[in-house]
Amino acid sequence: MVETAKIKIRKKEQSSLPQVDFSNIVFGRVFSDHMFVADYRDGEWEDLRIEPYEAMQLTPGLISLHYAQTIFEGLKAYKNDKGDVMVFRPEMNLKRLNISAERMCMPQLPEDIYMQGLSELLRLDRNWVPNLPNTALYIRPFMFGTDEYIGLKSSETYRFIIFTCPVGAYYSKPVKVKFERHFTRAAKGGTGFAKTGGNYAGSLYPAKLAQEKGYDQLIWTDGIEHEYVEEAGTMNIMFVIGDTLITPHPGDSVLKGITRDSVLTLARDWGMKVEERRIKTSEIVEAIKNNTLKEAFGVGTAATIAHISLIADDETDYPLPPVESREFSNKALKALDDIKTGVTEDKFNWIYKL
Ligand SMILES: *Cc1c(COP(=O)(O)O)cnc(C)c1O
Repeated sequence: MVETAKIKIRKKEQSSLPQVDFSNIVFGRVFSDHMFVADYRDGEWEDLRIEPYEAMQLTPGLISLHYAQTIFEGLKAYKNDKGDVMVFRPEMNLKRLNISAERMCMPQLPEDIYMQGLSELLRLDRNWVPNLPNTALYIRPFMFGTDEYIGLKSSETYRFIIFTCPVGAYYSKPVKVKFERHFTRAAKGGTGFAKTGGNYAGSLYPAKLAQEKGYDQLIWTDGIEHEYVEEAGTMNIMFVIGDTLITPHPGDSVLKGITRDSVLTLARDWGMKVEERRIKTSEIVEAIKNNTLKEAFGVGTAATIAHISLIADDETDYPLPPVESREFSNKALKALDDIKTGVTEDKFNWIYKL
């Protein structure tokens, strides 16, 4: 058995909970009382602690502020009707964090530190897990290099933090998207499969240009020909064409989403035809034109499923079938919600109950 150092706890003197209006929360702007912190030096994670969520002192020479040696994760906790706190597939996020860490030349985070830190933090802030319909506690684990050094090299010291944000009903209004044929999110051999800060910084400008034209998000295409579909903004993308669920095969330029994996698992369990393969933008446009494209949606932790109402290709807007008619994505959304909130049996063992 691995011995874990004890987590020191310093509690916040006065909880901010009474100031929060849970029926009206903007995503990512409200922070729970505490955070879990661990520091890495001399090859060891140490000084494990839970302390009030508050500003930290950082040196201007912090290596990660300059060269973006940063990685993050996103997952959610829910409450069932008995008030138990249930976390959705947390071990998958740790696996992915460590895949990102390897690519960004950062240390691995051991499972016991992650699970113990997460569990202790959620136990302490369990009253921050909302239980209104469509609400959840968003959990943000992240790691960054903390050396004070501006030569370009891998940091020798790191900090790992988990903080949480209650998030309100995510009104997943259907989104309008356009195929991006000029800018590239991630290249072959690049860092697209890692959840690392630079990928997101680089996506802001193209997204802004699309938003100025009235679209909510981009559908990223491959970095070589700009011909194959990769992702929808910061979500994976799926289509139902005829009776088949189709999604891009995750190469090194696509982030392998946990929601993606969950939706594919449900689809296969329901006996649906599933294809993970390359998808040409022209195949999607053809399917829209001959009415075989039934559904298009993004999948990710924040929205779970975000219906796509319109896809633009070059200068042409193609509206998609009404959301009410979309059998698969509506059924998958409900099935996932029911598992996460303990309404139905957790037959795939996805829930970690505190
Ligand atoms: C986080 C993320 C996703 C979705 O992953 P989930 O594990 O389902 O939340 C998809 N694409 C990108 C680029 C992401 O950053």
